[in-house]
Amino acid sequence: MYAVISKLRRKGLFIPRIALRCFDSQIRAILSYGVQVWGPHFLLQLLDRPRDTQGRYCYFDRAMEDRMVGIQHTFLRSLASVGRVPDNRLLFREFGQQPLHIHWATLVYRFWNKLVKAKNNICHNIFREEIRMALLSDCTGSSWGSLVLRGLRCLGHWPDVPVDRELEVRVNVLASKEINIDALMLTLKERLDEDWVNPRLHVQPREFVSDGTKPGVKMCRYTHWMGLPQHTTSYIPMVEYTSLLRFRLGAWALEANRPTGRPREQRWCRVCNNSNSVEDEYHVPPMECVG
Ligand SMILES: [Zn+2]
Repeated sequence: MYAVISKLRRKGLFIPRIALRCFDSQIRAILSYGVQVWGPHFLLQLLDRPRDTQGRYCYFDRAMEDRMVGIQHTFLRSLASVGRVPDNRLLFREFGQQPLHIHWATLVYRFWNKLVKAKNNICHNIFREEIRMALLSDCTGSSWGSLVLRGLRCLGHWPDVPVDRELEVRVNVLASKEINIDALMLTLKERLDEDWVNPRLHVQPREFVSDGTKPGVKMCRYTHWMGLPQHTTSYIPMVEYTSLLRFRLGAWALEANRPTGRPREQRWCRVCNNSNSVEDEYHVPPMECVG
């Protein structure tokens, strides 16, 4: 990955339009190798945990704990030229990316559908055995079939199987049922993006009350002030481009972004030097700041 980054950088091509494609073809491909086999286990790391006290699924936060997503995160961080990202949600949204789990889930469920269709094939017979084993343990085991089915159950896409019928009938039903991947991915994406539909983001950034829980004020400013990212529309010289990105991500050295222990409403602009103007992304020349 670092070789790809430095090569692109030397050629002046480490820009989102090109770099993100390189990530998908060169790096994501490695991080997804054989995912059809090991993926269900990693997907359950997100799916199979209780919601938090506010009823959030917290899929995004959990995805960030994954070490492979950590690599993806590092790549995006390099692309934005930021050392520390104030809010990872901003970083992923800015580049229109989702944690690797989305890609993994697509491949795993496509594989399931492929096995469903492979009738009269040895793979299909093994698949049936997997389902039988899973049903016998009510999907509590650690076999492949159990893990996939448990994932479906967590996402609320458990196939409609007659519960009162005998085992063989249920196995037959499940083994011939294709997963509706589009509907499933929609659910997964909605839950990953749950914070972006939070009503707290509808308040104005300067009226945002911090109550110590995520999502934070950075998301609020990003939503209200930054506008949609347009990385493909025109060419901007590299230096200005990275400055712009850092500004958009709230990683710019403004008083509002300095965690100095002062309350946010006291992070005043040093140029205006009065206690009315907090220096945030809106209080900069040529917008509000007169300095
Ligand atoms: Zn000012």
